[in-house]
Amino acid sequence: MTEYATDVLVVGGGPAATWAALKAAEAGARVVLADKGYCGTSGATAAGGTGVWYVPPEPAAREAAMASREGLGGYLADRRWMARVLDETYDRMNELATHGRYPFPTGPDGQPLRGGLQGPEYMRRMRIRIRRAGVRVLDHSPVTELLTDADGIVAGAAGYRRQLRESYRVRAGAVVLATGGCAFLSGALGTNTDTGDGALFAAEVGAELSGMEFSNAYGIAPEGTSVTKTAFYSFATFYQEDGRVLEGAASQGGRSVIARELLTGARVYARLDRADESARAAMRLAQPNFFLTFDRLGIDPFTDRFAVTLLAEGTVRGTGGIRITGDDCATGVAGLYAAGDAATREEICGGFTGGGSHNAAWAISSGSWAAGAPPGTPAPSVPPGRRAVPSPAPAGRACARRGARPARRNTARPWRSYSGRYCRTTRTTSGAARSSRPPCAPSTRPGHSCARVCTAKGPTWSGPGRRRR
Ligand SMILES: Cc1cc2nc3c(=O)[nH]c(=O)nc-3n(C[C@H](O)[C@H](O)[C@H](O)COP(=O)(O)OP(=O)(O)OC[C@H]3O[C@@H](n4cnc5c(N)ncnc54)[C@H](O)[C@@H]3O)c2cc1C
Repeated sequence: MTEYATDVLVVGGGPAATWAALKAAEAGARVVLADKGYCGTSGATAAGGTGVWYVPPEPAAREAAMASREGLGGYLADRRWMARVLDETYDRMNELATHGRYPFPTGPDGQPLRGGLQGPEYMRRMRIRIRRAGVRVLDHSPVTELLTDADGIVAGAAGYRRQLRESYRVRAGAVVLATGGCAFLSGALGTNTDTGDGALFAAEVGAELSGMEFSNAYGIAPEGTSVTKTAFYSFATFYQEDGRVLEGAASQGGRSVIARELLTGARVYARLDRADESARAAMRLAQPNFFLTFDRLGIDPFTDRFAVTLLAEGTVRGTGGIRITGDDCATGVAGLYAAGDAATREEICGGFTGGGSHNAAWAISSGSWAAGAPPGTPAPSVPPGRRAVPSPAPAGRACARRGARPARRNTARPWRSYSGRYCRTTRTTSGAARSSRPPCAPSTRPGHSCARVCTAKGPTWSGPGRRRR
């Protein structure tokens, strides 16, 4: 068993996790990031890439962006959150260009195209950035459970280091769940590690889920393949087997027509014949991975009709997840934050899928907020380059008093005191944090208790039926 002590533990290794880790480290916190896979290659974005809700801050453009999915989402989205996400995403994408040196392609007018990210390149750069910021990365180290202190406040997590074949435990002042959604059964590209662990961990400690009824979204993929880049199908015409147009079928607002046709046993075909020359060129530049499948199969998706299928993508495409209770992506449980697909995206998507642009923007924004960056935070003024890596704190130091409270540090912080935000004593004596947590007594949840106690000796399990560890 290896023990770590840190201010912030980020669980996950995708965009939400790496933005959270980066922003926390830039704010002066000690950060450990634990990924089930290899951070930079794991998760839904790394394997494929994403269109991003990147909209310049021009009032008309922003208004159109917000209005575009409101009706589809049943008017359940919140314009305040949409505006926050649009602002944050715009800043962070620009930061990717300046500080992350991401090679955005340029359009015919010479302007950079920042509405999409190639997953492998994006996540490779995010890994480099968090390592340079001093984040301790535990690859191939799935978290298996959260740890709480005697007050039920989340105080860290336990997991298993697969390559070292040993258990580990991280005592942390705050835990950010950025474990992605749950879509592994779909077979969609990059979802093999997305087994919904974050939702389970959150529920185990008493956090609420929200919008799970909107988690049945299906992505469109060429038949027999795993690439569900549904946004590009907005340029498609859908056809029946006999070549007639399938009336009403569309990627937005007509996916159920496709589903009904497929359920009859008939095949449905698509052709991206509504994309003009400039759109075709832009699509290839923005998402080359989308075309790999077609190139390998010898299909020109702009001129050939190809059979399509639908893959259920659970909470990766759907919008449900851990309920967010504050602008900083807090959950209902003190010490626990959620970001990316692990969190609900209802605030910006309502009851409609977040695929195609919103989910990627949410991963960036919520990740940044979960680690404490207020909206509108400019890119750090420190020029990109190697920074000193803080030496790891000795295990146990962060658990000096009741629970796993972070050691107080006097590091100058650009926006927020970590000791104020994450210090257990401060939070619990205020009453607010403690009272926000639903009770988790054995009497209310028969056969199960969340009485995992983090004492000065370290977190232990004390619930009935649980082995003491
Ligand atoms: C094929 C495809 C195409 C897509 N295209 C778009 C698009 O164009 N636009 C858009 O907005 N969205 C798109 N999406 C959705 C988008 O990819 C996700 O919204 C985004 O990846 C969410 O980021 P995330 O960091 O929350 O999760 P992920 O990127 O899925 O990362 C989850 C991370 O958590 C780790 N993890 C899981 N469980 C544990 C555990 N127990 N312990 C430690 N680590 C764990 C995983 O290893 C992984 O690193 C697409 C999805 C797919 C599948």
